[in-house]
Order: sequence, then C-alpha cells, then structure tokens
Amino acid sequence: MPSAPSWHPHLWHPTTQVARSEPPLRAVRGQGALLELDDGRQLIDAISSWWVTLHGHAEASIAAAVARQAHTLEQVIFANFRHPTAEALAERLSACSGLERLFFSDNGSTAVEVALKIAWQWWHNQGIARPQLIAFDGAYHGDTFGAMALGERSLFSAPFEPLLFAVARAPWPASWWNDDRVEAREAASLERLEHLLSHPTAAVILEPLVQGASGMAMVRPAFLRQVEERVRAAGALLIADEVLTGFGRCGELFACQLAGIRPDLMSLSKGLTGGFLPMGVTLTSEALYGGFISEQPGHTLFHGHSFTANPLGCAAALASLDLLEAHPERYRGFEARHLPRLEALAQHPAVRRPRLRGSIAAFELAVENPGYLNPAGRRLQALALEQGVFLRPLGHVVYLLPPLCISDQQLDQCYGAVRSALDQL
Ligand SMILES: *Cc1c(COP(=O)(O)O)cnc(C)c1O
Repeated sequence: MPSAPSWHPHLWHPTTQVARSEPPLRAVRGQGALLELDDGRQLIDAISSWWVTLHGHAEASIAAAVARQAHTLEQVIFANFRHPTAEALAERLSACSGLERLFFSDNGSTAVEVALKIAWQWWHNQGIARPQLIAFDGAYHGDTFGAMALGERSLFSAPFEPLLFAVARAPWPASWWNDDRVEAREAASLERLEHLLSHPTAAVILEPLVQGASGMAMVRPAFLRQVEERVRAAGALLIADEVLTGFGRCGELFACQLAGIRPDLMSLSKGLTGGFLPMGVTLTSEALYGGFISEQPGHTLFHGHSFTANPLGCAAALASLDLLEAHPERYRGFEARHLPRLEALAQHPAVRRPRLRGSIAAFELAVENPGYLNPAGRRLQALALEQGVFLRPLGHVVYLLPPLCISDQQLDQCYGAVRSALDQL
C-alpha cells in the first residue's frame, strides 16, 4: 500500500534533522537511472544514491554475479582463509592502480582509517617519530573518528572536537570556469604546504581532483603534481582518498591517473561494488607492506572487520570492473555529455562558478550566505523533485553526478529540472 511520506517509528536516518526535514521518500525498486516510489512515481537518481550507484540500479550482470556467489561462498573468516574472488579482485585492482597490496574493510570511512593506520604505524615500526598529519581545508574523509579528525572541522564534528586529534591544514585552491585567480591561490596553498612539511610529517591526505562533501570543489591536475613533489621532497607518505573519485567518476579509472600522481596509499569504496554492497579497500605499495613483516608481534597491523573481503562484495566489484573494462567510453566520454548542457545552464543568472570533471558537474547558487545550511539548495531540491529528478545539493552547491547508464534524454530532463527550479527560486 502506498503511503503518504511519513517517519517510520523505528528507523533513524543519516545526517537528517527530523525537526527540519520532510519525511523520506519510500523507494520500492530501482532500474538503471530510475528509482520507483511506492506511489508509482519514477525519479531520476541524479546523484547516484550518494555517489555509489556507478553503472545503474539493479544492473543485471552485477546482480547475477552476487547471486552466483551467494550460492557458492557467502562469507569466510579472512584471517585464516583466502578465497578466489578476493584473489581475483586484488590482482585486478593492483594491476590497474599500480599499488601491489590490498587491505579490505567495509566502507569509505574505514578505507581511510586503515590508510591512516598503515601510514602511521609504518613509521612507528621503524622507530621514526613523524608526529604530524596534513590534510586540506574543506576535506571530507568519512564519519568515523579518525576520518572525522582528518576532515575539515564543521557542524558535523563540533560535538566531538575534544576527542579529535590535531591535523595541520593547507588551503584547497578550488577552481571553476573562467577563474582568473587560481594561480595565486595555488601558490599560496603550496607555500603553506611547504612550510608545514618542514615539520616531520607522517602523511598528507587529499581527495584527488574533487573534494566531494565540501561542495564538489575541483582543483587542477598540475596543482596535485606540485603537491606530490613537495610531499616526496619531505619524505612523507601520500594518501589519496579516491572513495568518491575512483572507478571512472573523474573520467579515468582513478583521479590520480588523470592528475599524474602516484600515491603511496589509496582508499576506495562507493563505486567499488558498482553501488551494490558496502565494501572498502585500502591499496598500498609493497614497500609499506614490507614494513609490517617482522618477528615482533607489535609490528602487526592489528586491524580487521568481521566482514573483511566479503565474497559477495568481491563478486560485485569484479562484475563492476568487467563493465568498466568493456565500456570505458561510458566514463571517459561522460564529461563531453555534461559539457554543452552545463555551458547552456551556466548562462542562467543564478548560476555561479560552474565546474566539471568527468561525470561530476557542479555550480553554486548566487546567494547571500553560502554554506551547508543555506536553504536555497533545499528549495531547489524540492522543485526538481516535482519534475521527477532527485537531487541533493550541498548547501548552495548544486551538482549532478548520475549513474553512467543515464540516457541523453534523462540527462536533458535533469538539466531541464534544474533550470526550471532556478527560474522559480
Ligand atoms: C563518502 C566519502 C567517504 C566516506 O565513505 P563512507 O562509505 O560514507 O564511510 C570518505 N571519503 C570521501 C572522499 C567520500 O566521498
């Protein structure tokens, strides 16, 4: 029975203030770029269900791979066992990332936690004191404590402030179309970074090319190469959080490849299983792995999750990689699909700072008080919903990040809904 939107008596929703939100929509089915509600309405999922649905909802080949695996081996303790699906996934991810070792966990936050623990303990195991960690302004690395500490301090982390370890920060020189001040901002950021790196530093962490949660803040590839140069010169480790940007989102399989940087550690999740199952991985170099092999028990990486290397997740990830390999034009060519549509939209007087990277198109609303709590984005979200398009602006930042399967007609519908919402704001 379809029901009017209401709050369930037993569910608690993520990052949702019940006192200030509409009750959630009730989804009963997903197919391709569409979500179907219990009242029969169909919505285009223009943000890939929080950036995870890579190919499309209920993608048949991934569904079949998960079902086959469920009938074969659904789970096994990964401390004492390995299994063929995990082996195959590790081999393929190593080959396409250039990082030889893979540690499994359950989501993006844990993939970051593990990267941080490996980086930190690698120095510790050598008896070398490098007490500083560096991240960027605006960073988001997840909601668990370590990941939260690395991220920019905000409304989200405020209650926990006394529990978060210190992290040094450099500015993130985000840019947009026709931005003529970007060189100066990049130079200032690099100068700050260089200064910070004069203190002994364990690791620098960044979201390559696109900071997601802070508002689709995009930097230029050349800036990341200059960051890497400075990190290398200081002998620190470089962690790339590709939880959002991985698996073709930016136009190459990994954003680091597009930027031309080679991190020591890489965190992946979101698109890893095509959006089917929660899984994270941390990839590292063989050199880092070697730093944990020792007769001393204290040199072990004592970290493990019950569902480490879950075979269903591994099977989904392999099927998703098959699709990416079979149709690289779907992610390599996505930017060219956004481009003319975003160019046209950018003419709208309410659109500021348009920007584009791969399948991620974003702009800012011309508002007085920009930020996550600015209500303009929410109004735009409600208006787009009336046009059958699901968006979730980040405050005053509006973005489209659709599944790769979205048709041209559906993409036009997304841009049309945004335009008509802008006209009504
Ligand atoms: C979403 C995200 C995370 C956290 O991933 P979860 O699976 O939500 O824990 C970490 N880093 C980046 C860059 C993300 O976009």
